[in-house]
Amino acid sequence: MNEGIIRPLIFALCLLTIGFLEASFEYRKRLKKRSERWPANISIIVLGTIIVKLIFPMGAVGVAYWCEVNNFGLFNWLGLSYLPKFILTIIFLDLVIYYQHVLTHKIPFLWKFHQVHHSDRDLDITSAIRFHPVEIVLSMMLKTMVISLMGADAKGVLVFELILSSMAIFNHANLYIHPRLEKLLRYVFVTPQMHIIHHSEEQFESDSNYGFNFSFWDRIFKTYTESWKSKAVIGQRMYQRDKDQELVSLLKQPFIK
Ligand SMILES: [Zn+2]
Repeated sequence: MNEGIIRPLIFALCLLTIGFLEASFEYRKRLKKRSERWPANISIIVLGTIIVKLIFPMGAVGVAYWCEVNNFGLFNWLGLSYLPKFILTIIFLDLVIYYQHVLTHKIPFLWKFHQVHHSDRDLDITSAIRFHPVEIVLSMMLKTMVISLMGADAKGVLVFELILSSMAIFNHANLYIHPRLEKLLRYVFVTPQMHIIHHSEEQFESDSNYGFNFSFWDRIFKTYTESWKSKAVIGQRMYQRDKDQELVSLLKQPFIK
């Protein structure tokens, strides 16, 4: 089985499984019905995926494979053996994604595009895929650059991409998890109860819990928030109207002064 089949298959399986779980064990009462949010959230990722496939036909795994074949990038120059290269690829890419996420909040130009993800008024599995196409393209540019400079392991990149998309679906899910289990999971992974704090309308909370996969980056870099104190509204103050949530409005949001 090649990457072209594995990735969409695991992605669809995760959406279905976690979607079923969040429908059965709801964490917060939804403001809006699925039918009112899902068309825009799904359309924007379809658009972004088409654009990114046109600009980067090789994909992230393809770039890593090219580096391996052509002996390019730090890990290949150092002649790292398979296992350290595989593990370092996953850990280093996760650190880069953490840091990229911090920058999308700190740099005003990047925030304009990232706020499309944050203006969702509910959180569920489709929030995980609601990103402006420009943010997806910029993030792919950074990712392919980092992968080639580090000479990442192609299988490591594939596993990282699978972990990232599955974990994004999991930690945006409107899923109740028993507090004892959630606390245990949170030692290593980002849980929905940890990530929802990052989607608070209050900036002192949204400026924390930036991690996507492993929870330790937030602890190491002191951006970790344990509990959701404000219990504030999810989303952005200026985008609380229904019409702000339509596809065309989402695409226009970064360009509104
Ligand atoms: Zn964010």
